[in-house]
This record gives sequence, structure tokens and C-alpha cells, in this order.
Amino acid sequence: MTLSASLDTAVLDQWPDSHGRYGPFGGLYVPETLMPAILELDTAYREARQDPAFQQRFLALCREFAGRPTPLYYAAKLSALVGGARVYLKREDLAHTGAHKINNALGQGLLAQRMGKRRIIAETGAGQHGVASAAVAAMLGMECVVYMGTEDMRRQALNVYRMRLLGAEVRGVESGSRTLKDAITEAMRDWVTTVQSSYYLLGSALGPHPYPLMVRDFQSIIGREAREQILAQEGRLPDALIACVGGGSNAVGLFYAFRHDPVRLIGVEAGGRGISSGEHAARFSDPQLGRIGVLHGTRTYVLQNMDGQIAATHSVSAGLDYAAVGPEHAYWMSIGRAEYTYATDTEALEAFQLTCRLEGIIPALESAHAIAGVLKLAPQMAPETVLIANLSGRGDKDIHTVAEALGQDPEKV
Ligand SMILES: *Cc1c(COP(=O)(O)O)cnc(C)c1O
Repeated sequence: MTLSASLDTAVLDQWPDSHGRYGPFGGLYVPETLMPAILELDTAYREARQDPAFQQRFLALCREFAGRPTPLYYAAKLSALVGGARVYLKREDLAHTGAHKINNALGQGLLAQRMGKRRIIAETGAGQHGVASAAVAAMLGMECVVYMGTEDMRRQALNVYRMRLLGAEVRGVESGSRTLKDAITEAMRDWVTTVQSSYYLLGSALGPHPYPLMVRDFQSIIGREAREQILAQEGRLPDALIACVGGGSNAVGLFYAFRHDPVRLIGVEAGGRGISSGEHAARFSDPQLGRIGVLHGTRTYVLQNMDGQIAATHSVSAGLDYAAVGPEHAYWMSIGRAEYTYATDTEALEAFQLTCRLEGIIPALESAHAIAGVLKLAPQMAPETVLIANLSGRGDKDIHTVAEALGQDPEKV
């Protein structure tokens, strides 16, 4: 599929409407007990969004605390390998705490402070959002509690320790599959009983309105920088953008500034052990399990069985291991503005090793899915094609997972 010339991209800017809908997707499906908190948040965010002082403070901290702008790096050897397309990497791995998550954590942390909240609640999958939230809470002088599935705690022990060093309390979640979905459920449960004092800092472009909008706004700094950088470095717009899609925040963050440009937007989901195995997190690529439903307050594509029970997901990367996808992606997919593919665990592990050896960069396993997408798609593209892949984070946290998958022991010399 290529970008349709007939698509009027102006339609994209009509959403979300005041109910948080993106066409038939999105919205806010929460229990009555959460409505007052959500409405308070919506009002506070609408005010902050219009307030130049708030925006300036956010941008200043992006610069001085998070280390932005991150570079746009021309990956010469990767480009040669794929046969001519010019591949650039947006280096979110170089942002403070090692991933794009810090952009959103900073923005929402400032909003929490503006709302007079003293306590931050966050959920985390791979631990990157937990670490980013803990860092921001420490910097702003706020208390921080992070919910994390115990399966993810096992996979990402190093990040658990980092959160504790940063002064956060990490609460293990034993229910369900003990991964991100269960952590979000517990975080929302906490919020219901502590709304007066607490701010729920959600880590991806999902959940009830206004979260998908807020997270996209804060993350879209990635694409604004990348657009300026590619124009300066190449003298023209890229032909395509590629990013991995968990909840969808790094992807929408890169894509958003290019939405009206003739640029292909390509999301890569986690193909796990393959689509036919059912053990994956590819919401758009599995017509059996990936159907429209409601999860964690938003209407979107959700992996579910015939009875509407949320399906168990699998990915080698904890950050992509989630049954639903952000509603804006569902909308962009439905109208053909963005296209979605997947990479399996095996393909991601190969892309991981290749990026290490070829470019001298250890990518996060999530980001390795985007590189796997480049390896698959770039050879089909014309030699002068310009591609930007989002290197959403660094891979230090994944060393043990990779070693285990490769049958190696990193502690043995
Ligand atoms: C969390 C995470 C992701 C997935 O989340 P999105 O909201 O889809 O971006 C991807 N890459 C890294 C490095 C992450 O930490």
C-alpha cells in the first residue's frame, strides 16, 4: 500500500472531538468513580495546552533535563546493507533515562504539579516509563508509586532497581499474565481511591481521553525535531517513517509532524512467535484475534477471543507486549493514512545484533522491531529513498533477555 494521493489529510485534525473520539475509536469508557478525576484532568490539560508559560517550561526541561534535541543519525552501513535507501535513525536512545518515555513523563509531571498533586502513580511494562516517571517525580519533589507485573519485573530487574534508586516505590502485580495490562488495571484501581492527592501518569498514547491526546502532544516533539533535521541534512522530506508500535506513543510522536506531508507512515507491531501461533501482540495483523473492543477506557483494536476475553499476548520485548493499541493509530489505519506490519521475536533479535555490530548502537528490543521493519521494507524501495526509523530507546535493559534467547551468559567471562 502506498500513500493515497486522494486522502484529504485535513480530516486528521478534526480529531479527537470533545469526547476524545477519533472517528469510531477512542472515547472515554471509565467507571463512574473515575469520571470526576478524568473531567478534572481534561479541564486542567485544556488550560495547560493553551498556556505559553506551561509550554515553555516543558520545552526548557526537554532541553536541560532530558537532553533534547536528540540527533538524527545517518546509518551508512545499514543503508549499504539494505541496498541503497538512505536510512536515518532518530536517536531517542540518547534521551535522559534511555528512551522517548521521558518526553511524556516530563509533560505530565508538570501538569500534575500544576494541578497541585503530590503523588504520582504510574504503570510500566519494560520499566522505561517507570524509570522516566521516577526521575521526573524526584526532580519535581513528588512521591512516586509504580505498578509493574511480576513477569516484567523478572524480565527487567535492572529497571526495577533504577526506579528504587530514584526513590520510587515499585509494587509488583501478581494478577493475570503479570504484564503491562495487569499493571495498568492496578494503577487505575489505586487512582480511584486516591484521586484527591494523586495524578495517574499513563505511559503510552492509550487509555481514556485525554491521555491519547496528551501523550501524543508531548511525544510529537520527536517528529518536529526530525522534520527540521531531515530538511537540514537531506534538503528534503523523507519518503517513509518507521516506528515500533506498543501502545503507539513513539510512533505517533514521530509521525504526527509529518501527517500532512506525502510521507508513508509505517508502524511495526510485535509478531512474537508468529501470527498463526496466536502468541504475539500484533493487533492489526491478526484478523482472528485483533478486533474492535474496549480496553482500559478506550475503543480500539484489541486482541481478544470469540467471547471478548482479552487474549494473552507475547513479545520478546516487554514494551510491546500489550493487547490493545492507541486509538489514533486505529483511526489512521482505518482511513489508510498509516500502514502497519509486524516483526517476529526472531527478526527483532536479528535486527538487534545487526544494529550492535554494524552501527555501534545497542537498541532496545522494541526499537529493534522498527529496524527489522527497515530490513524488510527498504530492499523493496528505490535507491534514493530516504527513511527515518525511530530508535525509541537503548538496549542496556535487554541484555539479559537477549543473552537468554541466544543461549549465552553475560555474567560469565
Ligand atoms: C515503551 C517503549 C516502547 C513502546 O511504547 P510506545 O508507546 O508504543 O512507544 C517502544 N520502545 C521503547 C524503547 C519503549 O521503552
